[in-house]
Amino acid sequence: MTGARRTGRAAWPAVPATAADRVWIDRALRLARNAARAGEVPIGAVVVRAGQVLGSGRNRTIAARDPTAHAEIVALRRAGRAAANHRIGGATLYVTLEPCLMCLGAMVHARIDRLVYGAPDPKVRAVRRLRRAGRAGLNHRFAVTAGVRQAECARLLQEFFRGRRPARPAAVSPAGSGRSAPGW
Ligand SMILES: [Zn+2]
Repeated sequence: MTGARRTGRAAWPAVPATAADRVWIDRALRLARNAARAGEVPIGAVVVRAGQVLGSGRNRTIAARDPTAHAEIVALRRAGRAAANHRIGGATLYVTLEPCLMCLGAMVHARIDRLVYGAPDPKVRAVRRLRRAGRAGLNHRFAVTAGVRQAECARLLQEFFRGRRPARPAAVSPAGSGRSAPGW
């Protein structure tokens, strides 16, 4: 196991939330509510560097007919364009729900500094799994802060999956859409 600690850094260090984190997660929550109004699973994301928004987005997989159009991917693409660079070092990605493996992979490729998320995903648990597998040979790691505005982020998703959100388009079929409610 000699390679395990070759970077000399703690793997996926957990850092406490700041007041600014709550402000940015609030912005991501507003994007998530926009997604719900559009009939998309309510998840929002914001990429911030030096106190400035580089890119933001919300889940739009249904409208875009794009399985990769998660909020984090949408925000990272916009941030890359804004930064004129496929690498976005020094940035923090804020998202309302614990990211999936695809989005975590994109964050590694983007070289972000830090991830802040709201609600944990109790089924997938991708961040926690990845942190446990912290010696998986990835060439980039970032700090993680979990649970910012957790209750609000989880409630939005709970209400969406219970069908209580307003003005959901009838075209979206809960059955057969492949979207099961996470286990909040
Ligand atoms: Zn994702």
